[in-house]
Amino acid sequence: MQINELVAKYQEIADFLNSHWPLKDKNQRIFARTMKVVEELGELSDEILTSMNLQRDSKIAKFSRENLEDEFADVLASLILLSCELDIDVEEVIKKKIEFTKERFEMERKN
Ligand SMILES: [Mg+2]
Repeated sequence: MQINELVAKYQEIADFLNSHWPLKDKNQRIFARTMKVVEELGELSDEILTSMNLQRDSKIAKFSRENLEDEFADVLASLILLSCELDIDVEEVIKKKIEFTKERFEMERKN
């Protein structure tokens, strides 16, 4: 799946969420989506800590790789949903960031 296909699927989900649970305005939607990113990042952090045996035993006993992957997907999904509200072209900004990073570390010369 290409990034733009992924974003298009999440735009459909964003439209569904916004029609079923409408918020007052765009600023509230951006705030809610931002808080969701933070929430999901916390859940991913919890899974990573658990995978490293740095949580309580009851959590460690329930750990699964599937849960960790699911929380990773939640973080990515919540970021894409935020991009929909911020009108950010994910593919474009990631392409720019890859170029910036390659230049920063002078990767072009090595490859
Ligand atoms: Mg989650």
